[in-house]
Amino acid sequence: MVLAHDINAIPRTRDVQISYNITFDNMLLAQETLNGLKKSGFFKPSPIQLHGIPLGKCGFDLLLEAKSGTGKTAVFSIIALEKIEPKKGLQVVILAPTREIAAQICDVIKLIGSDYKDLHVEVVMGGLPVQEDIEKFKKNVHIVVASPGRLRHLIQDKYIDTTSVRLLILDEADKLMEKSFQEDIKNIISFLPTQKQVIMSSATYDETAKMFIKSYVQNAQHVCPESNCVLLGVDQKVTEVKYNCNIVKQTQNRFQEVIKIFSKMSFKQCLIFCNYQARVSEIHKLLLRANWPAEQLSGNQEQTDRLEALKTLQQYKCRILIATDLAARGIDASNIDLVINFEPPFEWQTYLHRIGRAGRYGSYGMAVTILSEGVEAKKFHMMLDPMKDTINITNLWCNNNTFHEDISPKSPCPDVDKSCGTPQSNTQIEKACNELWKILVSDEEIIKNNKVESFENLCKSFDESSPGIETFHELLQSFENDDGHAEIDKGLRVLQFFGASKVQVPYNRLRRQI
Ligand code: ADP
Repeated sequence: MVLAHDINAIPRTRDVQISYNITFDNMLLAQETLNGLKKSGFFKPSPIQLHGIPLGKCGFDLLLEAKSGTGKTAVFSIIALEKIEPKKGLQVVILAPTREIAAQICDVIKLIGSDYKDLHVEVVMGGLPVQEDIEKFKKNVHIVVASPGRLRHLIQDKYIDTTSVRLLILDEADKLMEKSFQEDIKNIISFLPTQKQVIMSSATYDETAKMFIKSYVQNAQHVCPESNCVLLGVDQKVTEVKYNCNIVKQTQNRFQEVIKIFSKMSFKQCLIFCNYQARVSEIHKLLLRANWPAEQLSGNQEQTDRLEALKTLQQYKCRILIATDLAARGIDASNIDLVINFEPPFEWQTYLHRIGRAGRYGSYGMAVTILSEGVEAKKFHMMLDPMKDTINITNLWCNNNTFHEDISPKSPCPDVDKSCGTPQSNTQIEKACNELWKILVSDEEIIKNNKVESFENLCKSFDESSPGIETFHELLQSFENDDGHAEIDKGLRVLQFFGASKVQVPYNRLRRQI
């Protein structure tokens, strides 16, 4: 099954493009991972994948920060898969704030990990019978993806043995740092070994989240390919409707606007966000009555119905999904090209996450926020004030509408390397590794002064002391058991290779984590 986006099928923005001729084949990944990536349609890494995967494989704590839909899930999925030792027990714990995201991550890992023999990945989540989750742990599970509440329950009641956990991943980490999750997360962490790698992933981190995150990671490497947090491919619009103090009439005004948008715009799939559960079912009914088939997704539905609604969206079986902010984060459906905020969200972070559902993996789409004239419109613009230099919001009906007419990217998407997936000669690999080295070593001075060896030389020097090094893992293992200074030097050079001067984590920390 293909999971990745076909990057040649439609134009992509710079958000997911790298200018270097690097494919996953050149990233020193295990053959099983490469096979899984190929089967799932992944060839060229996105910026966050290019920078995050090698550092994560080195064992560093990571703070991944990249725009929605630019490939963060694959970063931590690959790192997790490459850590697994089949004979050991549970080694990776992945937490996600919603059950839908947890289910989605589990699917991604299973697909990319499809070539790993005897790999067991499970998802556990509230809302489904607990006995089913207990049964899952009667066999050896290597990776568990979970919503915090259910995992805490299973760990506390000793259904899950956590003694061999070496990697903890928090997806949508800023959300998980919110008060409502803190108790569960602290409790889960208290059951995990202290020596472990921690990876946090999100498109946004506010100051409060950063403060909490600090207490969970040690000298984390912050991997953030671009400072602008707004997706280049999402055309942001607002449209104002008449204010009415009667909420029923106000909802009708907004609904008429939705119908107007649907009848005037062409779109493949649309996600409508409402602030309240009751509004979701109300709009759902209104749409069906107006002959616009739609599905709904909100927290008051049965878990099986929630997962089903999401599947119909992802499998392109429905064109319109109405949802609460339950669907604002993490949800990946490649054909969504229109997001409508039926009412504006309360925080700018939620706004970014919502509009990030369009424009997946650098594709083009539109986000329309419906505002009622006056106070609400003013509040919305004030809320986005901190980002005023980076976002451009225009009026939907005033401007010449460019939707689906002029959506060509500013810089054309380069051709995919046609040699992907075919065996490469050693010189090709060496060349590509050297390229990778140049990208990762971001400190120009270090390169100029030749303070960091070329990858080729580095491998050679390892080869002399330990012949036959072919994989990244072997490279690391080659200095794992030695205590001499020379070996530590080599270790540091490997670290420099992957992160240059920014890497400050002491070598012995790396050693403990391998
Ligand atoms: P994020 O976690 O940053 O929100 P995802 O990991 O969900 O983004 O990726 C968004 C979409 O892009 C997914 O459908 C994923 O399969 C696809 N994708 C990720 N990396 C690549 C890649 N290197 N090439 C093609 N498609 C990719």
